Amino acid sequence: MRTVLILGAGFGGLELATRLSGSPAGDLRVVVIDRNDSFTFGFAKLDILFRDTPPEAVRVPYTRFAHPHVEFRQEEVTAIDPRTRRVRTDRAVHDPDVLVVALGADYDPGATPGFVEDGYEYYSIDGARRLRERLAGFDGGSVLVAVLSVPFKCPPAPYEGTMLLHEQLDRRGVRDRTEIRFVSPMESPIPVSPDTSAAIVEALARRGIEYSSGLRVQALDPSRHVATTRDGELSYDLFIGIPKHRVPAVVEASGLTDGGTDGWVAVDPHTLRTPYPGVYALGDCADAPVPRAGVFAEDAARTVAAGIEAELRGAVPSERYRGRGTCHIEFGDGLVGKVEADFLSGPAPEAPFSPPSAELAREKAAAAEARLRRWFTG
Ligand SMILES: Cc1cc2nc3c(=O)[nH]c(=O)nc-3n(C[C@H](O)[C@H](O)[C@H](O)COP(=O)(O)OP(=O)(O)OC[C@H]3O[C@@H](n4cnc5c(N)ncnc54)[C@H](O)[C@@H]3O)c2cc1C
Repeated sequence: MRTVLILGAGFGGLELATRLSGSPAGDLRVVVIDRNDSFTFGFAKLDILFRDTPPEAVRVPYTRFAHPHVEFRQEEVTAIDPRTRRVRTDRAVHDPDVLVVALGADYDPGATPGFVEDGYEYYSIDGARRLRERLAGFDGGSVLVAVLSVPFKCPPAPYEGTMLLHEQLDRRGVRDRTEIRFVSPMESPIPVSPDTSAAIVEALARRGIEYSSGLRVQALDPSRHVATTRDGELSYDLFIGIPKHRVPAVVEASGLTDGGTDGWVAVDPHTLRTPYPGVYALGDCADAPVPRAGVFAEDAARTVAAGIEAELRGAVPSERYRGRGTCHIEFGDGLVGKVEADFLSGPAPEAPFSPPSAELAREKAAAAEARLRRWFTG
């Protein structure tokens, strides 16, 4: 019996465990560890923020994660030794034959001075809940939305949040007395897809949202409610930031980030193997040449599952990571667009855009439901 240990039961970990549970590689035992007792889709934070959805309603308990040969353990990973593949948690020591690190990305709000004191975010469940309360009492003024650092999860999500904010303020009758400005250090919203970028920029303009690209907010001054940029100060009544992302501290301490870009886990982009035998990394924590998004973590899980099965059979893995993913983008008014990105399977990345429609809104909901049916029971 050989053991595959998956650290993290998020988008990537759930997909990998599900695939391995149906593995033809006979005597395989899969153990999945997560500190949480439940899974929540990233985009559910938009429902918590704008649709009054209680966080409990979007949580899927891991008790429903039941597959043959797969064991879920709620434990906190405290140390990883990639040389020996030994993993320590708050409850046990694990010595697997194959180790997969899928621990996602953490936030580092303290990296932007003043942000913790005077800013709001909706990238965490607590942050979305806090911002929802602040918005309930917001009666107009200037809102500054800023991407504070790159990379960050789900490149369209800051724009989705801003368009849904416009919609909410409009519905409440406060949009007329609110200015919304969006600032990003990136040159365009979705660089791989000029059509998607153009559609987003045009949608912001149509909603009267001022958009500044290539501009980074460096710090906030909480006493004056101003944000500092290279080009001067921007004042705000409400600051909403997409916090700087970082690899989880336990991953950084493991040495797996040595050789990775900007502190992310170094992997072979075609196989998602790390330089350590029998150790893979996938999803947001990995330094693969794709954006941080669940759909790419899912595609990476497909490659890693094939790689592990080949490794355990003593065969050469035939599958190469394609870096494919379909991202649905909320534009407000119940309309959703999509971009179908393929970063690695052709000679150059491709990412055609489909304009927003009610049909794509239904497709987004169906895609989420299909994942839940695949990963969970009941
Ligand atoms: C507002 C928002 C909207 C988004 N919309 C989309 C979208 O529409 N489509 C899309 O594809 N992506 C979207 N995303 C991004 C998506 O949520 C992430 O990219 C995706 O979840 C990454 O998958 P992962 O498996 O790498 O990490 P995660 O899903 O984050 O999973 C990592 C897991 O590791 C666990 N963990 C971390 N540290 C420890 C530890 N020390 N011990 C034990 N467990 C630990 C965590 O609890 C977590 O369950 C969105 C994100 C946000 C914030």
